[in-house]
Amino acid sequence: MSEPAADVNEKGDSKKAQKKEAKKAEKAAKRAEHRANTDNAQENVNEEDVSQGKYGTLPLIRSDTNAVKRDFTYIKTLNKNLAGKVLWVRARLHTVRARGKQSFIVLRQHEYTVQAILNVSETVSKAMVKFSSNITKESIVDVEAQLAKVEAGVAGCTQQDVELVVSQIWVVSASAPQLPLQIEDASRPEKADDAEGLNIRVNQDTRLDNRVLDLRTPANQAIFRLEAGVCRLFRDTLTERGFTEIHTPKIISAASEGGANVFTVSYFKGSAYLAQSPQLYKQMAIAADFEKVFTVGAVFRAEDSNTHRHLTEFVGLDLEMAFKYHYHEVMLTIGDMFTAIFRGLRDQFAREIAIVGQQFAVEPFTFLDPPLVLSYDDGRAMLAAAGVEVGPEDDLSTPAEKLLGRLVKAKFDTDFYMLDKYPLAVRPFYTMPDPNDPKKSNSYDMFMRGEEILSGAQRIHDPELLSERAKHHGIDLQKIASYIDAFKYGCPPHAGGGIGMERVVMLYLGLDNIRKTSMFPRDPKRITP
Ligand code: ATP
Repeated sequence: MSEPAADVNEKGDSKKAQKKEAKKAEKAAKRAEHRANTDNAQENVNEEDVSQGKYGTLPLIRSDTNAVKRDFTYIKTLNKNLAGKVLWVRARLHTVRARGKQSFIVLRQHEYTVQAILNVSETVSKAMVKFSSNITKESIVDVEAQLAKVEAGVAGCTQQDVELVVSQIWVVSASAPQLPLQIEDASRPEKADDAEGLNIRVNQDTRLDNRVLDLRTPANQAIFRLEAGVCRLFRDTLTERGFTEIHTPKIISAASEGGANVFTVSYFKGSAYLAQSPQLYKQMAIAADFEKVFTVGAVFRAEDSNTHRHLTEFVGLDLEMAFKYHYHEVMLTIGDMFTAIFRGLRDQFAREIAIVGQQFAVEPFTFLDPPLVLSYDDGRAMLAAAGVEVGPEDDLSTPAEKLLGRLVKAKFDTDFYMLDKYPLAVRPFYTMPDPNDPKKSNSYDMFMRGEEILSGAQRIHDPELLSERAKHHGIDLQKIASYIDAFKYGCPPHAGGGIGMERVVMLYLGLDNIRKTSMFPRDPKRITP
């Protein structure tokens, strides 16, 4: 028996639909409340209920060792080869629709959905069907069912060639009847070529205010699985290349990168700061002979930047490495690491990338192996040829970076490249000056789709030169004494870089806002949930 799965693709006027939804939910709530007055839903039905003991609300699961244990099957594994099998599924009730003596349910696990049906029959009572149709959306249910083949295909479900013919249904955890957003609405395609206007959209604040619900959409499930993949690939790639993972303090006594964008926190009778980067600690680990280190951790920036790419707290993927003669040993190691990450994402997360692509219009990410390296002056020349002048000692503005990204893509067909040899004037005090050109430095940025994702350089490992450069930048030497002291007892030449995890995921997937790739984003206007 098949019927198009519930109104997954329904379009309509947003307010009207929400009102209708709210009314429906209110009614369902009243019914649920009525039922909840008894300990067990079955007590509501008369003695002749043939389905007695086959449906209701389970007692609160409190890890009772005497509870019945069942084997559950994952929705993603359901297919016509299993037709005829009786199995148990624990899933969310995505949608439910009553139709005469039947109820049609869509069950959801992550991005997978399957249709489940209840028909009044010799073994399924009217009361049971009614009970099922009153279960609130997003509730977690246990369902016992026989898997049946569906020749015509179930529209709107990922498992199209099967459906579940339900023999038992139990509510494990009920959802409140009023949802602040509908998962179907939050999952709708947001592509420019869609017939927008008609589509119900959920705005970003509503999503972020109700992030627990918003995160249940297939695209969000995929984004955060891929994000975990970025961290795993970062760790694995560097570990394979002999790096050691370290953990650096987040509470620090002096602002690590100058005082402007630092959060002050009270610390017993005094105050402390939240680390703006693990920079100084990574370097101290090098001075302590760890040779190659990386760290994954929170980075705090007290910048009132309300842009699509700035957060006040983000996850830094940082690395630092000793080298023998030239910082390019490190720069190329980092480039090679990115290639490994991009390859890993492409090969291991094709499904996730495709799911995100169903909601957001995204061009696949392109990269070269080995990656493209351009000098800062090459970049300036390309920009000049396109009519944008950048002075030899100026930093690139954000629009210039984006334009250069487009020019590089057109010329070299890559969304990733490295820009080497930045002007000394635009880099932090600890950046090693170029030995051949006093106006340049041994530093680099790396870009994805024309936006910066890494900043790095050879660091000054000589305490005298470091003090001189700090003075030149007007930094109070006393405040950074412990940093400078770290290099007093001999330190290998070293270079490294800092990467923003959320930016990498945003730009790899071609998303338009960093809040989409931070599970619980922090920005100047949001510190909840
Ligand atoms: P931008 O110029 O884009 O503000 P930045 O020069 O301040 O960045 P760095 O301090 O060099 O960046 O930090 C290294 C990396 O950390 C950046 O390339 C970026 O990927 C990430 N990053 C920096 N600031 C933020 C932020 N506020 N939110 C999210 N990621 C950030």
